[in-house]
Amino acid sequence: MSPHPHILIAGAGIGGLTATLALIRRGYRVSVLEQARELAEIGAGVQISANGAQALFSLGLEAALEAVWCEPAGKEIRLWSTGETWKLFDLGAVSRQRYGAPYFMIHRADLHRILLDVVQAAAPDAIRLNCRVAGFEQTASSVTAICEDGARIEGDALIGADGVHSRVRNALFGQMPAQFTGLMIWRGLVPMESLPQRMQRLVGTNWVGPGGHVVHYPVRGGTLMNVGGAIEHDDWRVESWTERGTTEEALNDFPGWNEDVHTLIRNIEVPYKWALLGREPLERWTIGRVTLLGDAAHPTLPMMAQGANMALEDAVVLARCLDAYDDVPAALQAYEEARRERTARLVRAANDNAGRFHNPALGNAEGAARYVDTEWQEAKVKQRYDWVFEYDPVTTAV
Ligand code: FAD
Repeated sequence: MSPHPHILIAGAGIGGLTATLALIRRGYRVSVLEQARELAEIGAGVQISANGAQALFSLGLEAALEAVWCEPAGKEIRLWSTGETWKLFDLGAVSRQRYGAPYFMIHRADLHRILLDVVQAAAPDAIRLNCRVAGFEQTASSVTAICEDGARIEGDALIGADGVHSRVRNALFGQMPAQFTGLMIWRGLVPMESLPQRMQRLVGTNWVGPGGHVVHYPVRGGTLMNVGGAIEHDDWRVESWTERGTTEEALNDFPGWNEDVHTLIRNIEVPYKWALLGREPLERWTIGRVTLLGDAAHPTLPMMAQGANMALEDAVVLARCLDAYDDVPAALQAYEEARRERTARLVRAANDNAGRFHNPALGNAEGAARYVDTEWQEAKVKQRYDWVFEYDPVTTAV
């Protein structure tokens, strides 16, 4: 393979930009084709565990991230009705010591901006906006991305990092079947100062209840609280990051929940509604010079908080494979093989957590205490999460 193949990446999201940076740093020429007209501040919080942090730190981003992240001391489980609290796991020093990197929470826009700034400084012309990839053509020696406006861009490989509704994936394998889970999530950001003092805590919290759960954690240096409330709901099926709802609708979806949950919902600046669709893991996601990355390859429910982390891991492993193999198709195949089993296991673990968080046993306080004691025992929690956090994309075999 030539020492500097030209890599095309569809999508300048979290995974696409991380892959771009990992490749630029290795001397590759990268063209990123992004559908958006401008890369604006959209989205709310994402959680980055040690496995994702390793990917970002390997690209020299630790100091920039640290200026805006929140590193909580731990995570708690709370009961939807009484507010009773249990420890889920310790983070902070425990994550650093046990998994070799911190667990932090960050506004997606802050993470995205940091990646974008570094990519633009290193390769000012790499990103082409207003370029929606609609398909591709490939031969034995090259691949051409075809954009909706008819533009054709030729390269040595095409990476579909174009998110959950990936057009590159559709062009490879057709529409991926998706089932509505019966769940939707209310998402949004709360200015920390609008909360009572006792709720301005730098911990991650999972409220669990029958038919719903609410996750909240601080972002942007503790000035914002990110809130996501999942609830069983049959009449909202739009899978989107940008559909708005109203505070009243959101409150009505959590009747009888603890006053702290209502206080959080009341203070969300703009409530967004996101329907959760489930998809079975793909059996393969590479053909020749075309592969997928992040949500395009393995869309997951958010119940393991690993969507962004898997995209970060993919990006670093992909760049390592392109370095390690002599031709592009072999490198892309090796990348898929290194990632397929882990990401499929993660998708299944997130499905399992959906049932766990919303269990009917949580309906009354006594049954709930028994259920929480059993399901969130330390040994069980370690078994569910250690394999996720222990993985290091920088050193894993490729
Ligand atoms: P994404 O980060 O979703 O990036 C996909 C990128 O591809 C986007 O920039 C998109 O505009 C672009 N794209 C899509 N189709 C095409 C096409 N045909 N051609 C070219 N470009 C295309 N996750 C959370 O946990 N919390 C949030 O608040 C949150 N907000 C989000 C807001 C937005 C606007 C987006 C796009 C995603 C958001 N996510 C959020 C999802 C989260 O970023 C991803 O689940 C995760 O980071 C995996 O990243 P990814 O790179 O695979 O996909």
